[in-house]
Amino acid sequence: MRLNRSTKTGGGKRGPGKGGSLESGRRAPASPGEAGEAPDSMRDRRGAWRLSLLDLDAAGLEAFLAGIGEQAFRARQIREWVYRRNIIDYAAMTNIPAMLREKLSSDLPADPFASCEPVRTASDGTEKLELATRDGERIQTVIIPQDQRVTLCISTQAGCALACAFCATGAAGYRRNLTRAEILGQVVHSTARSGRRISNVVFMGMGEPLLNYRNVMSAVRELADENGLAVGTRKITVSTVGVVQGIIRMCSEELHPNLAISLHSADQRQREKLAPSARKWKLDEILEAAELYAAACGRPVTFEYTLIDGVNSSQADADRLGKLLKKRSAKVNLIPVNPVPGMKFKPPDGDSIRRFKLKIEAYGIIATLRTGRGSEIQAACGQLKPQV
Ligand code: SAH
Repeated sequence: MRLNRSTKTGGGKRGPGKGGSLESGRRAPASPGEAGEAPDSMRDRRGAWRLSLLDLDAAGLEAFLAGIGEQAFRARQIREWVYRRNIIDYAAMTNIPAMLREKLSSDLPADPFASCEPVRTASDGTEKLELATRDGERIQTVIIPQDQRVTLCISTQAGCALACAFCATGAAGYRRNLTRAEILGQVVHSTARSGRRISNVVFMGMGEPLLNYRNVMSAVRELADENGLAVGTRKITVSTVGVVQGIIRMCSEELHPNLAISLHSADQRQREKLAPSARKWKLDEILEAAELYAAACGRPVTFEYTLIDGVNSSQADADRLGKLLKKRSAKVNLIPVNPVPGMKFKPPDGDSIRRFKLKIEAYGIIATLRTGRGSEIQAACGQLKPQV
């Protein structure tokens, strides 16, 4: 019985993927969609939409199977393989009849990726995976083991359109939104690879999650499903540059993951220099949307602040930040800038970082310092871009 081998990177034990045939050479337009816009997806050779297994939620898979005369319990069996056992290869799904497996392999490919390769592992255990989509885009995922926890940092777009001054992903430009399957596929591959249950998922890899709203929120719902991946919503963090309409839309969702907003400055003009998208989404509107979200989810919003020497890390900058956030439901996560080849930014020295933190804490704000896990392998914040 011949199965479609283009799904060959699925499965529990895997080495470097061997690559598969590309379903389409099509490139998506080089501009981001609006928040909530339907995502780009793969097309088949005739130009028709081509779904893969992880694109479908439970009801969607049941409906797909009903359409080919199969019963609902088959959907449960398949989902169990994928989300409980981390197998995305029909060939290994031994309780599914061979004829159905063959049909699914050709009509609903299991693995959204052509290959999944570990690219580097750091001495602290942080591991970077590079995955190639079926249409040839390359994205990265970072597995960060920490004592009992394993945190996964996943990508939501191939490339990024935001062009933040200090980020390697933005410098490489925008390609397209990732599908729901490609977002979840990163989690399934990483879980299989690490051999441990993923305890936390952060949407902080390549891309802007809220410019791929529908697929990101669909992936959040799947991640939180207690019968599947079972990552609690409090263990999921969506990080945004501040896409205001996306934040407001999140307020009315049923599930409320943690929200992190990349602030980097308490001054509108300085912020525009660091993150050009700040011209579109203004500081005061972002803060207002953040308040609404904190109220909707009942937890404070985290403001990420990348500290850059001589740019936004003075005591005056800390004062401004403290004043801006002091009466709000907010926490601050300080990230000393990670070096990116070709960029001149440096992190402040340890003493300046400590004094910055103390200053904002004096306003009653809880502040944490993010360590640059994975920086030696270019896997820390802002360092993700496909290998050349
Ligand atoms: N687009 C989203 C998520 C991706 S970036 C966002 O803007 O939040 C994840 C975090 O890493 C953001 O806070 C981003 O500003 C930060 N970051 C980007 N480049 C960095 C670098 N070189 N050093 C430290 N942090 C960086």
